[in-house]
Amino acid sequence: MVMKISILGTGYVGLVTGACLAEQGHNVVCVDIDQKKVELINKGVPPIYEIGLNELLKKNKEKIIATTDAKSAIKDSEMTIICLGTPSKKDGSINLSFIKRGFEKIGNILKQKKWHVVVVKSTVLPGTTKDFIIPILEKISGKKAGIDFGIAMNPEFLREGKAIKDFLKPDRIIIGTYDDKTKKTMQKLYQDFNCPIIITGFTEAEMIKYASNAFLATKISFINEIGNVCKKLGIDTYDVANGMGYDKRISRAFLNSGAGWGGSCFPKDVKALIAKAKETGEKLSILEEVVRVNDLQPLKLIELLKKNISNLEGKEIGILGLAFKKDTDDIRESRAIPVVIKLIEEKTLVKAYDPKAMDNFKKLFPKIKYCNPKDVLNSDAVLILTNWDEFKKYNYTGKIVIDGRRIEEAKKGIYDGICW
Ligand code: NAD
Repeated sequence: MVMKISILGTGYVGLVTGACLAEQGHNVVCVDIDQKKVELINKGVPPIYEIGLNELLKKNKEKIIATTDAKSAIKDSEMTIICLGTPSKKDGSINLSFIKRGFEKIGNILKQKKWHVVVVKSTVLPGTTKDFIIPILEKISGKKAGIDFGIAMNPEFLREGKAIKDFLKPDRIIIGTYDDKTKKTMQKLYQDFNCPIIITGFTEAEMIKYASNAFLATKISFINEIGNVCKKLGIDTYDVANGMGYDKRISRAFLNSGAGWGGSCFPKDVKALIAKAKETGEKLSILEEVVRVNDLQPLKLIELLKKNISNLEGKEIGILGLAFKKDTDDIRESRAIPVVIKLIEEKTLVKAYDPKAMDNFKKLFPKIKYCNPKDVLNSDAVLILTNWDEFKKYNYTGKIVIDGRRIEEAKKGIYDGICW
């Protein structure tokens, strides 16, 4: 059944959610405060790079529009999905200011509505829906959750770079809710999805998201630590990971050792969970180490670089890959960031290339040189920070290459790998 859906916050998650729900036949209005994003979306142009998103927006042009007018969008829809950002504060705890403003807006509109379902898709810590979001909505609207309006906590597990596939074909859908009417509406929303739908409480749904991200980050930091030892022992960690991966209890996924994890989710979610645990008097010591290992990991590339070039001052160092992983233009917490900072400290001349993320990186590092791959390869040494497929096609012969992402073809150069 076709639904009228508004989406609050049209970033990576909001836009993918909107485009995918339009693809499923729903009528979607995407709301954002960023006028530029809104204009681009209305022209059928995605403001972010994500495989397949361009095609999906163009194909469903009639079913998806964008606006800055939250009031009309929410009023004219039967469901609002909140995809606002939940970034970290300086101390690692979660910043709920975007969420707060968003729910205050919704609360005001709920006053005028008979029934509306509010879906929390943003990643929020256990307890947030029950103790923070519902009280805001109830106080401002003067209405009762579960009786006058519906509320569900529906965490998102998509990966950037594979976001559309992940959204449309998820491993599972988690829905935290407490009233039957909302439960039925959510089941209707996802009726064409061929995966288990798990109904839980709000707090459980929130914790499932954090525990999942924390576990995946742990898996990567684990294999990176093993990889660092393997490197010293002359062992190829990828052979080890492949051997481990055949064990179904372990699985091969997330066992690619390298320069570490980044992105918009793992770093902030792991830190927020650690901070939340502290509030309860518990210490998440494993996760604290997971973060520490990840902070140190990209600097291993500099150690390897120094083995080849002992005095880095004045040397041209090329960086291949600025996005936190391939197939995205997202540079949030990219491992290229600490590496570039260190290279600047070492007074090198940094030359960088990324197929999609250079514009975003320029905002952080306007002074380094951005060039084409050929110019980057013409540096005194090249560091590989992202596993873009096109990096496999370059000619590395005769170049000093320090690889943080296992690009096999780069082995034709004067090559060193971070954990192999
Ligand atoms: P984002 O920063 O890309 O998008 C947030 C959007 O909200 C921006 O476009 C911003 O302009 C807009 N915005 C801010 N205030 C607004 C307001 N008052 N009204 C309307 N729009 C407003 O964030 P994201 O990466 O899409 O993440 C959103 C949430 O989803 C976060 O909680 C994140 O943890 C979670 N999540 C992200 C991913 C991912 O891969 N990016 C995956 C799963 C879950």
